[in-house]
Amino acid sequence: MPPVFRFAPSPNGFLHLGHAYSALLNFDRARETGGRMLLRIEDIDATRCRPEYESAIYDDLAWLGITWETPVRRQSAHLADYRAALDNLSALGLVYPSFESRAEIARLVAAREETGPWPRDPDGAPLYPGAAKSLPAEERARLIGSGAPYALRFDMAAACRRVGGLTWRELGEGPDGERGRVAARPEAWGDVILARKETPTSYHLSVVVDDALQDASEVVRGQDLFHATSVHRLLQTLLDLPEPTYRHHRLICDEEGRKLAKSTGSTGLRELRAAGATPAGIRRLVGLD
Ligand code: GLU
Repeated sequence: MPPVFRFAPSPNGFLHLGHAYSALLNFDRARETGGRMLLRIEDIDATRCRPEYESAIYDDLAWLGITWETPVRRQSAHLADYRAALDNLSALGLVYPSFESRAEIARLVAAREETGPWPRDPDGAPLYPGAAKSLPAEERARLIGSGAPYALRFDMAAACRRVGGLTWRELGEGPDGERGRVAARPEAWGDVILARKETPTSYHLSVVVDDALQDASEVVRGQDLFHATSVHRLLQTLLDLPEPTYRHHRLICDEEGRKLAKSTGSTGLRELRAAGATPAGIRRLVGLD
């Protein structure tokens, strides 16, 4: 079977040089290896994704000279697939609802930090501090029945107990130079959100479901997602999905050394195009000669 590569942008802004680098790396790898190139639109966050960003993605990638197979998988059209995976995890007893608002979570973290530092996940966000995991079943049912909003969280401790030590094969490099067989540390993320009352999925859940459904064999993406791979390996194992290899690549930074944000400014592909850049020039700018 030929290797399968995918570029998976979220249409919540215009593409910048960082996206161009990631998309071109995937495309070049597919060409070098006689592999397939897929494009996936990660549009489950309906509040942030917009059709004009999605059409700009197609337009900018085509301008760069990238081609991909059609039809493109758009996550918003496949919620039933994610719901099925979520149901499997629930059946294993690994999912529970939590009802705190963001403000309540911030208050809980602040209260815990009065007695010392509260652990943070690899992205720097505090781990879930609440006690929803131990809410009695009747109280859960009452809150859900009352129409309260909730998030469905992953019982990380129980999931890790079930699965034990996991690794992945890293063909690129992590932020601290990790490569080769890397040990997964999903527990560093705490009880991440897998879904919400209104949306039966999250980034972590949909990415593993889709990578499996699309037969992605080598996941090429930015180093900002290196640590998330730990959660992905755990979900893949619990859901009995195949293990791709991973190639995390360096991030393209601005002059101040910061990762590029969605608000693109001078590093946006649209802006660079309007200013006369060529696709070959973009390749040079991101160091892909
Ligand atoms: N949709 C994610 C992003 O735009 C990328 C997901 C992935 O490659 O796993 O950052």
